[in-house]
Amino acid sequence: NVITRFAPSPTGYLHIGGARTALFSWLWARKNKGKFILRIEDTDKERSTQEMTNAILEAMDWLGLDYDLGPYFQSQREKIYQEYIEKLLEKGAAYYCECSPEEVEKMREEARAKGLKPKYNGKCRNKNLGPGKNRVVRLKVPLEGSTSFYDLVKGEISVNNQELDDFILRRSDGTPTYNLAVVVDDLTMGITHVIRGDDHINNTPKQILIYKALEAPIPEFAHVPMILGPDKKKLSKRHGALSVMVYKEQGFLPEAIINYLARLGWAYGDQEIFSREELIEKFSLKNLNKSASVFDIEKLLWLNSHYIKNTPIEKLVPLVKEFVYNLGYKPEDRYLAKIIPLYQPRAKTLKEMAENLQFFLIEDNKLEYDLKAVKKFLTADTKKHLNALLNKMKSIKDFNQKELENLFQDYLQETGIKFKLIAQPLRVSITGQTFSPGLFETMEVLGKERVLTRLEKALN
Ligand code: GLU
Repeated sequence: NVITRFAPSPTGYLHIGGARTALFSWLWARKNKGKFILRIEDTDKERSTQEMTNAILEAMDWLGLDYDLGPYFQSQREKIYQEYIEKLLEKGAAYYCECSPEEVEKMREEARAKGLKPKYNGKCRNKNLGPGKNRVVRLKVPLEGSTSFYDLVKGEISVNNQELDDFILRRSDGTPTYNLAVVVDDLTMGITHVIRGDDHINNTPKQILIYKALEAPIPEFAHVPMILGPDKKKLSKRHGALSVMVYKEQGFLPEAIINYLARLGWAYGDQEIFSREELIEKFSLKNLNKSASVFDIEKLLWLNSHYIKNTPIEKLVPLVKEFVYNLGYKPEDRYLAKIIPLYQPRAKTLKEMAENLQFFLIEDNKLEYDLKAVKKFLTADTKKHLNALLNKMKSIKDFNQKELENLFQDYLQETGIKFKLIAQPLRVSITGQTFSPGLFETMEVLGKERVLTRLEKALN
């Protein structure tokens, strides 16, 4: 049975790259009806914070990446790591080393001087030392042969064991090292597939050697290539490699992020839109890209607008409401439910939608006018027409799109003017600005009273 995990270090926010790794692990577990584990790798006590842990949990929750077990915290598992280090010592697969960091650095320099790979030279390997102050524990790495594995993304990978040194499992202060902790965790949690960023690929041979020393089954590995910015450099803040939650604040839907991340580094023919269920059905580690992917904000925006368009209004109202509240308005849900559909076909983000629809919410006497537009469009001539239309509109009983269209049609026929002549003047008068959804829909939603009030104000 498949068990995967996501193992972030709480030294930073969950960013796009981490979220994608989490998604791939989650998808593989869900697809195989297996389990997905969340493990917080907080052994770096200096740099790990509770705040980051919370932020990661919040982001996982927002993305809907639910886990079956965890969160586990490495900081709470120290006893288990020590047990395994003892096991390795007992088996003779690891040994105590008393060389000081300075001595080890000298060994490295000597090797470098001879043009060899700088490494610890194994001085204490056969000394049979016991525990003692300042002693580290090292793994006995085979002196010959190679360590190989078949990476599900990259294919066959092999490292000559002579390239590796007897690396440390337990530091002189007694704490376990990263590689040891990861192996013990993956082993004791029964992880079958380790899916992670390829920045960890150099750790994998070392980890495999620990599994072998423990005579434990070795999981499958899938190392996912990096995400690059549009300039083909490693994705950074400058490119939008921000916390996933920043995308929430910018008005992205989690569905769009999930769909985008899935396609960023994975493909299924040329299909672009995938529901979560479809992703689970179609995802496979086999068609992960072997090369780095390039982050493309335009495509993310395109997907976001697709999902905004296809989200039922009752789900959209509370989401847009949050943004509208942040702008200082407190409209009723019923009213928002009428406004939002006017924006749904085109909005790129919820935030943009909220900003654009403000003129619906603002009190009539606080409506601000784009003065340039007023000057350009509200001429004596257009005002004359708008005044005439204002008077006619007063007598409409059912102030809806259809009635308004009829009224305007009649007026255009009577006067022989083109709609174009009065469209922008009308728009500026009732919205204060030069862009809005369709005029008739906009007027219907604003309602008779507000349309007439605003027109009167503008024409004065
Ligand atoms: N904690 C590591 C990181 O955040 C991940 C280690 C792993 O997945 O094996 O990069």
